[in-house]
Amino acid sequence: MRLVFEGPPGSGKGTQAKRVAEKSGWVHVSTGDLLRDAVRNRTPLGLTVEQVMREGLLVSDATVIDIIDERLAQKDCAKGFILDGFPRTIGQAQALDSILASRNMPLDRVVVFEVPDGAIIERITGRRSCPKCQTPYHVRFVPPKKAGVCDKDGTALVQRPDDMEDRVRTRLAKYHEDTAPVIPFYEKRGLVRKIDGTAAPEQVFKSLERALES
Ligand code: AMP
Repeated sequence: MRLVFEGPPGSGKGTQAKRVAEKSGWVHVSTGDLLRDAVRNRTPLGLTVEQVMREGLLVSDATVIDIIDERLAQKDCAKGFILDGFPRTIGQAQALDSILASRNMPLDRVVVFEVPDGAIIERITGRRSCPKCQTPYHVRFVPPKKAGVCDKDGTALVQRPDDMEDRVRTRLAKYHEDTAPVIPFYEKRGLVRKIDGTAAPEQVFKSLERALES
């Protein structure tokens, strides 16, 4: 299948996309992950987008459209794919339409993960990870045994700069302003399925499976 996962940052779409990808063999394509890789590797792209990402703002449409165009042209995407975090603006959605039309790859579903802002802020501001082994934690929901330290290798945990509360509020505002209008864009075509993203991950996965069958 060819899927788009939409929802505010921290709505669980990335976690669920990874799970669906593992089960189905469809490729998980996250523009956030691709951009973070570029920043980590200090590529020219990474150096250009680093500051914008740190502030919780959106990278330019032209930049992310290029990234997606290139990624979807790779052979593995012929099996199907899950776009996570793209499209985030109407301009990106229109560009995706042209890319997919030129390759005869229509979308099958757009799944929207619904989570209220208050829950998003609690989820994201509590996220931490180990910079060495990348194990994710949450200060409240998945705390390490010893506060602030990785259970596996004892490294001090870090917070993504864009996970700090003021940045999360900026990211949510951008979501409501720029990304929410993408949902009616796809609703007109009958592609959208909305699911409750506040439930436990296992429950959300079940709703997701039902949404993909309906
Ligand atoms: P994410 O991990 O999906 O929350 O993305 C992290 C950051 O990467 C966002 O806050 C943006 O700065 C940037 N980003 C990811 N995807 C897009 C996109 N489709 N359009 C613009 N910026 C993006």
